[in-house]
Amino acid sequence: MSVNRRQFLKIAGVSTVLGLGGATVLNGLKRGGLEATQLSPDPRALTAKRWGFVVDVSKLKTEADYQRCIDACHNIHNVPDHGNPKDEVKWIWKDTYEHTFPTTTESEFMNKELKEKNFLLLCNHCDEPACVRVCPTQATFKRKDGIVMQDMHRCIGCRFCMAACPFGARSFNYRDPRPKIKIENKEFPTRMIGVVEKCTFCYERIAKGLPPACAEASNGAIVFGDLEDPNSEARKIIASKFTVRRKPELGTQPSIYYVIGGHENA
Ligand code: SF4
Ligand code: SF4
Repeated sequence: MSVNRRQFLKIAGVSTVLGLGGATVLNGLKRGGLEATQLSPDPRALTAKRWGFVVDVSKLKTEADYQRCIDACHNIHNVPDHGNPKDEVKWIWKDTYEHTFPTTTESEFMNKELKEKNFLLLCNHCDEPACVRVCPTQATFKRKDGIVMQDMHRCIGCRFCMAACPFGARSFNYRDPRPKIKIENKEFPTRMIGVVEKCTFCYERIAKGLPPACAEASNGAIVFGDLEDPNSEARKIIASKFTVRRKPELGTQPSIYYVIGGHENA
């Protein structure tokens, strides 16, 4: 595939910003390295029509099980730890049933274990993403495989996307994140003060044939798969168990499903 001059200058500029060699960047990066279309795709790359997760929190038994998933993500993606909720930057986190499903009708007879469970939350990679519609610079956009991306180089920090997202899935860098990264992963870009960031479904791992880091660390609690493929493991679980999505009434069509059945009363 040929690369025209404009594409080359753009890629070369990104290469400089990221501090990466031009060849590395050319080998699959376009539009800040985030588009599904690769100039020279890695043959190991995983592909799908619409990526999604099925999360079964009944398989997350202890605090450490949740933390392992969160750490797996935040460590490889250079997510800073500011140590206070006001400046918090998060790509994946846990929250209560009530906060996860605030509009779900619950009864006094509802399963006690489920009601007291924490849920792992992240960007829903919505099929109709409200964040994408409002971004004035197309810094956030949806790829052909359903992943909703965030291009930090295009973000002007207006935070329209944060206001539009009904799931609190986006974080703003109110402070310089770089000094607050525990151990920097040199293979993943760091961000700067004044930009928004969020989960990107581990696009960089999928491009190398690897599953998302949180799914890999979850001991089977998170199943990653193609929602459009009836033979994918994710679809089989959705077909065989009772699953729910967050705030379905808003019409954003989340791609994260939560298994609700199978929780036994304590
Ligand atoms: S969860 Fe929020 S940030 Fe993620 S795609 Fe949906 S609207 Fe956008
Ligand atoms: S899919 Fe990747 S980026 Fe998203 S929460 Fe999981 S580990 Fe983090």
